[in-house]
Amino acid sequence: MDEQTFEYSLDYALQLDAEDSLAKYQAEFYKKKGIIYLDGNSLGLLSKRAEKSLLELLDSWRNFGIDGWTEGEYPWFDLSERLGKMIAPLIGALDDEVIVSGSTTTNLHQLVATFFEPNGRRNKILADELNFPSDIYTLQSQLKLRGFDPGIHLLRVKSRDGRLIEEDDIIAAMTEEVAIILLPSVLYRSGQILDMKRLTNEAHKRGIIIGFDLCHSIGAIKHWLDEWDVDFAVWCNYKYLNSGPGAVGGLYVNKRHFGRLPGLAGWFSSQKDKQFDMEHILTAAEHAGAYQIGTPHILSMAPLIGSLEMFEEAGMDHLRNKSLQITRYMMNLITYELNDMGFTIGNPLDDHRRGGHIYLEHKEAARICKALKANGVIPDFRAPNGIRLAPIALYTTYEEVWNSVQLLKKIMEDEQYKQFENKRGVVA
Ligand SMILES: *Cc1c(COP(=O)(O)O)cnc(C)c1O
Repeated sequence: MDEQTFEYSLDYALQLDAEDSLAKYQAEFYKKKGIIYLDGNSLGLLSKRAEKSLLELLDSWRNFGIDGWTEGEYPWFDLSERLGKMIAPLIGALDDEVIVSGSTTTNLHQLVATFFEPNGRRNKILADELNFPSDIYTLQSQLKLRGFDPGIHLLRVKSRDGRLIEEDDIIAAMTEEVAIILLPSVLYRSGQILDMKRLTNEAHKRGIIIGFDLCHSIGAIKHWLDEWDVDFAVWCNYKYLNSGPGAVGGLYVNKRHFGRLPGLAGWFSSQKDKQFDMEHILTAAEHAGAYQIGTPHILSMAPLIGSLEMFEEAGMDHLRNKSLQITRYMMNLITYELNDMGFTIGNPLDDHRRGGHIYLEHKEAARICKALKANGVIPDFRAPNGIRLAPIALYTTYEEVWNSVQLLKKIMEDEQYKQFENKRGVVA
């Protein structure tokens, strides 16, 4: 899609759809007629394969009762490990460095409890001021549990412009007081990708443990966590991985740390063959499985089976290529069609710094989002002035992107957004 061939026309959008090698997956998703869903970075749509695997596990409960732990095509007892293996290629990890378990927030509690080892003056946690609140609350409560004042011991790297965090500023904050760093891989508002390789390298030079929250990158961009030597990571599976509301999350622990005891232990932290010995001394698994806590939520894990099959089949290379192309396409349309309407593209423009969504800023953002919804386009609003638009590689068409930008233009020209209050809803 170079500058010469780009055309501002519906025909051109249709041509891009005809050339899209991932187009066959669109029919596998439950897309509503007349609705353009651009919120797959918040909650991915249901696919037929995810639905099928969910129903299969419901059947295994019906058919086997307690024996479902060991019977059927997907015995529940090692399903977390099996799914970890399926996720490993998405993040460039070894099979046993990954486990599907818990949620982003609980996994983060677990890994901070495991990796935060204050030692003398090295007793601070470094994060950033743009991260998602749950991550920050986790760090604050972990500090409190250890008797530290989060006001002093939680450092947050400042953003220069309210959108991006500069890697140079993060590195400058890596002092000898920092024990552990937690950062997002992709910022949830601006969609900026942080240079995880460089940051890991710089942290390790200074003897600091570093982990990333992959919520907005897993299934959207490629990662090489093992090669980069990242210490740990956490994520959810309901955004780009389309595994359903509250789907069980995941975590990664670098193999160098295998054998480190879980900060928050439970019986599922156990070596599998020892678990039912019921001893009061834990023999922890010697892989990422050690950081599980209790009985896995099988039914909230089941959709992942079908969903991950699609990722395996489609391949992250193809998915990332389409995502880059369709977000570039959307930015071109926005720049051309919405010129002089008060919009600013707040996400990084470069391919290597741009995640899977577009972040549009406008002072009327809250009510523009409401008007978009009233017109059948589902964006999401992020306070104070952001509109996130995520064209998803597996199921969004170029035609839908074309139509959504045309609708947005009309909403602005007709001032339709003025019919709504400029205030966010309960779930924005
Ligand atoms: C979506 C998201 C979460 C959500 O955490 P849950 O424990 O799944 O509710 C946390 N952090 C980030 C950065 C997110 O994007």
